[in-house]
Amino acid sequence: MSPAVLSNGNGHTDSHPVTKAPAYGFSTRAVHVGSEPDAATGAVIPAISLSTTYQQTAVGVHKGFEYSRSGNPNRDAFETTLASLESGGHYGLAFSSGSATTATVIQALGAGAHMISVNDVYGGTRRYMTQVAPAQGLEVDFLDLEGSSEETISAAIKPNTKLIWVESPTNPTLRLIDIPAIVRIAHAHPARPLVLVDNTFLSPFYASPLLLGADIVVHSLTKYVNGHADVVMGAAILPAHQSAFAERLRYLQNAIGAVPSPYDAWLAQRGAKTLGLRMRQHGLSALHIAKALEKSPHVAAVLYPGLATHPRNALAYASLSPHAKSGFPFGGMVSFRIRGSAHKFLEATRLFTLAESLGGIESLAELPCEMTHQSIPPAERAILGIGPDLVRLSVGIEEVEDLMRDIEQALEKAQLE
Ligand SMILES: *Cc1c(COP(=O)(O)O)cnc(C)c1O
Repeated sequence: MSPAVLSNGNGHTDSHPVTKAPAYGFSTRAVHVGSEPDAATGAVIPAISLSTTYQQTAVGVHKGFEYSRSGNPNRDAFETTLASLESGGHYGLAFSSGSATTATVIQALGAGAHMISVNDVYGGTRRYMTQVAPAQGLEVDFLDLEGSSEETISAAIKPNTKLIWVESPTNPTLRLIDIPAIVRIAHAHPARPLVLVDNTFLSPFYASPLLLGADIVVHSLTKYVNGHADVVMGAAILPAHQSAFAERLRYLQNAIGAVPSPYDAWLAQRGAKTLGLRMRQHGLSALHIAKALEKSPHVAAVLYPGLATHPRNALAYASLSPHAKSGFPFGGMVSFRIRGSAHKFLEATRLFTLAESLGGIESLAELPCEMTHQSIPPAERAILGIGPDLVRLSVGIEEVEDLMRDIEQALEKAQLE
């Protein structure tokens, strides 16, 4: 146990015990780290500590908590869990949403900074980068980080480039970025930008970008990590050698105050305990469905990097976490190009609920071009391959036979005039 001590500028220091590798496997960490029985009561499950303020026995003398925005038992415990779950992580910081995490990380770069972002980044991240960050004196260039040569990427780095923002696989076309290649380019450049990976789609179960050399990982915990579609929350996780940037984020977490409630931290910690079990099932069912869709006459193309026929299948395999390599597929998201009416398909499914978001135990389906990706200008959508025939599935943990029957009957209905 080594304490990772960070000050948040409010006089509060928190001590996060971090379990050192090799220690325990993924689900053991998920269940136990940050969730030790309560010393005072013996409660196996932590209490929800709603108090906003904490008693001091003399001025400045307290038990590690003063005011709940700066730190509280539930958030601190969950941050410990997160730092342990994301392999290679040492510092975990939770925020009130994935978007608040993005905003805080970008603000931490400071005015005058330049960023490079993957071109089909999550819509809300793009919105922040293009509509909010410029007013804070930050510049961003969007680049095809999958298709561009190493020379092109390296040439896009400026002396003031502080960050390269990677999302892999991308949403909804599930394109893959070669993270070690981006890390190599960034670290060889004199500007030495940080490499950030938004690891929301694969979750800490399937991918460990910090082990591939990334400097920071962010998550929308709203998706797989909480996993039950009932909490909005985000997190940043950093390795031990990024202590200075972690310290800056800890300061801004408190100064900006976009923090999750103790109740949400408690719920998400409960969700995270079953992340390994859920992700295995999401992945197995997604692979099963992707293979079946490939054979369907009503489907023109299936986008799932876990398919052996996917052009980047080898990179997909190389991107998997060490513990996920033994025969597990590539996450729970499947996109496909439908023959027939996407609208009719989406109105005909009974188990796949027509809705935005992803990563919950229940299966969801949506039409990116009119829903999650509607704000992207049509010309750019066309370049990214997000057309009216592209359907995105978030495969849940229901029985896969039931899910397949649901898809088959909806594909039939999509063919009717
Ligand atoms: C949902 C999502 C976000 C934003 O997270 P919120 O919790 O909705 O603010 C960021 N990145 C990705 C990849 C997402 O799917």
